[in-house]
Amino acid sequence: METPTSARRLDRLPKAHLHLHFTGSMRHPTLVELAAEHGIHLPQALVEEWPPRLRATDERGWFRFQRLYDIARSVLRRPEDVYRLLREAAEDERAAGSGWLEIQVDPSGYASLFDGLTATLELFLDAARAAERETGVHVGLMVAANRTRHPLDAKVLARLARQYAGRGVVSFGLNNDERRGRALEFEGAFRIARRAGLLSAPHGGELQGPRSVRECLDVLDADRIGHGVRAVEDPRLVERIAERGVTLEVCPTSNVGLGVYDDLGQLPLRTLFDAGVPVALGTDDPLLFGPRLVEQYRIAREVLGFSDPELAELARMSVRGSGAPESLRKELLAGVDAWLAADPEPVGD
Ligand SMILES: [Zn+2]
Repeated sequence: METPTSARRLDRLPKAHLHLHFTGSMRHPTLVELAAEHGIHLPQALVEEWPPRLRATDERGWFRFQRLYDIARSVLRRPEDVYRLLREAAEDERAAGSGWLEIQVDPSGYASLFDGLTATLELFLDAARAAERETGVHVGLMVAANRTRHPLDAKVLARLARQYAGRGVVSFGLNNDERRGRALEFEGAFRIARRAGLLSAPHGGELQGPRSVRECLDVLDADRIGHGVRAVEDPRLVERIAERGVTLEVCPTSNVGLGVYDDLGQLPLRTLFDAGVPVALGTDDPLLFGPRLVEQYRIAREVLGFSDPELAELARMSVRGSGAPESLRKELLAGVDAWLAADPEPVGD
């Protein structure tokens, strides 16, 4: 491919980030620093050998991914650690041109430290508001249940999320290993969340194929699906996703990092986009995979050949699929049009 002499800067393209997990958003130097402060020993995969080489397409690989994730979670001990994490995540969003961050939290993982589920969620909400004030990036929370736990635990979280609908919580998710815990078991929790006006945004179609995506659509009435990329294995399903306008949160470096695809060239982003499926690019867990949001757009441009009008459309789709308030959506969409209307800048650094 010819090297362009001018290009529109991807970090100036206004966008929204809809797939980022709380712990997985941590900066790597922050992990190392907090671990030292709290006297926590980190494995080599999180220090010299960072980012770790992972492969989660088998149970053992997923277990290793989860173990590293749990170690990372353990360095967040004090409320000020939570404030720091969200402030730095919002700073990284600002640097990537993102005006809306929807970050996934599961307060159960921290409830014993911070005095219960409600107090933990309130801490996250307060830290999100503080990050917003300091950076200008708007932050909404997705409360996400863990599918490896009992569906009744998910209902407890859905009722908690409901109390904060319209007050910082905008969506409800479902995460962890798709091979354990099918989406349809969580219908009750999602019904509670949807009735409260929260967006339904479960993970599906990452480690499992089309059936998991169908369950998200038909049983959980998904507005968005976390990943969903393996829907491409069933073209009729892709058509249905496009018809319903369900946004897929596609996370390129996560898919390759976890071995869902062997390399970036295999990502079905082009297939989904050309079929009219709304796609919002995301990072999932930059702490474990490395690259952040702007890199995902760079991959679309440089590896998958997306033109600037197509990249602008990806950014619009991220905004349209978000839980951001209407006024902010308008502002971001106008910014996307302005980005595309401006002349490319000379390349050089
Ligand atoms: Zn995820």
